[in-house]
Amino acid sequence: MLQLDVKTIYFLVGLFATTTGLVLFALSTTGRFDRWLKYWGISNIATGSGILLLTFRDIIPDFYSIVLANMLAIIGYYLLMATTQRLYHRRRIAVKPHLLFLGILTVLFILMRDADSYYAERTVLTALTCGFYAYCVAKSTLRIARKEDITSAYLVSGIFTVATVVFAMRAIAGLTHHLGGDSVFASGGVNMWTILLAAIIGPLWNMSMLLMIMERINRNWIGRALRDPLTSALNREGLKAAIENNSMRRQSDAHPVTALLLVDIDHFKQVNDKLGHAFGDQLLCTFADIVHHQLRSSDLFARQGGDEFVIILPASGEKEAQDVAERLQNSFAHATEKLKQDGLSITLSIGIAVAASDQIAHSLNSLMEQADSALYQSKHHGRNRITSAQAA
Ligand code: GH3
Ligand code: MG
Repeated sequence: MLQLDVKTIYFLVGLFATTTGLVLFALSTTGRFDRWLKYWGISNIATGSGILLLTFRDIIPDFYSIVLANMLAIIGYYLLMATTQRLYHRRRIAVKPHLLFLGILTVLFILMRDADSYYAERTVLTALTCGFYAYCVAKSTLRIARKEDITSAYLVSGIFTVATVVFAMRAIAGLTHHLGGDSVFASGGVNMWTILLAAIIGPLWNMSMLLMIMERINRNWIGRALRDPLTSALNREGLKAAIENNSMRRQSDAHPVTALLLVDIDHFKQVNDKLGHAFGDQLLCTFADIVHHQLRSSDLFARQGGDEFVIILPASGEKEAQDVAERLQNSFAHATEKLKQDGLSITLSIGIAVAASDQIAHSLNSLMEQADSALYQSKHHGRNRITSAQAA
């Protein structure tokens, strides 16, 4: 029968977490990363050094090998939870209630620091607390995965779900006196299996967290490269990439046509001239907000340049495009009503063209030309108009 030395496993788990944490923390001091890396590093250092301290039982005073060891391990989990919640919410989480809770835990550990008497109680307390924080990490990373469509966040969430189950098993074993011995280094039963699982899970979750954060940064940069920074509309590259994405093809079976709207703000130069370039920028953002609110998630919205925008409505024909165009004109007229006091009548001229959905990727340029001719007609006939390429 294979006989593993539990104390050595604890020591190695602690050593690995501490050194990983030190490397992450050292990287965070370069200033090239967001604050999450520092928290993540400190979290590894805290948990790792807590586990290391445990292995010095009977060598150093119980206060360090029991109270400080357990609290450091727990604080490490708390920081991990705080890091992932910060990644999800992009803001600080409430610290005070956690500090109070951690303070109460410290008092309890001080009261139960007698090495031989309260082993099961301490195990239950640590397992429940770390399990709770692991559960919070699993929950917030699942939200990141769903909300931001980040595949590796599912992996992180899965690993922390396993960790939650392992802690729950440990807590139940403690409560039912099935830990497999009367010391943290007992080489039997649940104690042995949970530390072995911890040895596997620890490196896995650091790796998966790294993947998640890299995927997130990558996505962020790709998103920025494909969008106009002022209005958050897609840029030309972004529009091309989105059209090549198969979301539109998926809809082409049921709805064979797709409409393209080319929108240009009328007399926009006058806004810049009379109210300043910054106000002009603000008006472009107002227009973009109106469009973002009116469109479906499958519709595409891009800035062609200056005050000219493209809207693509998959699974929509001439009639739907006319309706959308009218709604945009009305909302924009409403939003710019006050400008009339400055003698500015800012309206929208729109050109519409329609093509077969499965041809969009190939015929985008020709569709754009048709919509441009239609837009030209709208301008030519006095602006504040909608013209369809078929009628132009
Ligand atoms: P028309 O009615 O014929 O469309 O004329 P217009 O005054 O709207 O002018 P046009 O569409 O020909 O030109 C757009 C102007 O928008 C030119 C440029 O000064 C201004 N512009 C382009 N990009 C920006 C920008 O990012 N911010 C601001 N504030 N102005 C911009
Ligand atoms: Mg214009």
